[in-house]
Amino acid sequence: MVIERTLSIVKPDGVQKNLIGEVYRRFEQAGLRIVAARMMHLTQAQAEGFYAVHRERPFYRDLVRYMTSGPVIVQVLEGENAIEKHREVMGATDPKKAARGTIRADLAASIEENVCHGSDAPDTARNEIAYFFSQSDLCPRTR
Ligand code: ATP
Ligand code: MG
Repeated sequence: MVIERTLSIVKPDGVQKNLIGEVYRRFEQAGLRIVAARMMHLTQAQAEGFYAVHRERPFYRDLVRYMTSGPVIVQVLEGENAIEKHREVMGATDPKKAARGTIRADLAASIEENVCHGSDAPDTARNEIAYFFSQSDLCPRTR
């Protein structure tokens, strides 16, 4: 079994709706361990950089505005097959298409305001973790 790490964000709508604990509960129930976490209010430059892969997409400006509209909680999750497991727990981008029982199906308002972010592959996970955390921010579970 491969132990992976992935970057996770509770987005501004999730924080506004007081869903931090609910989202964390679902991660922990799925066997994902939080090994780093921080609340921050993204600057325009931080949000633009984070979503740079989407800069040609029609929703990019709105996405940056949304992601800077309030504080977020950024965390690193660790576990077996963590990248895919995390995305399963989140559900599809569009809550209308997300499987029942997923975070987005149960808690998200729209395809944009969809409560959470999760890395989509090992290379993006590595880059996204490094975007927010230095090596010394990560706390390996020693028990
Ligand atoms: P994330 O990267 O946030 O985990 P994702 O991988 O499911 O979500 P992406 O295609 O990477 O989805 O899109 C990034 C984010 O941009 C989405 O989570 C959503 O907030 C927003 N977004 C995606 N598609 C649309 C759209 N068609 N209209 C508006 N916003 C969108
Ligand atoms: Mg994505």
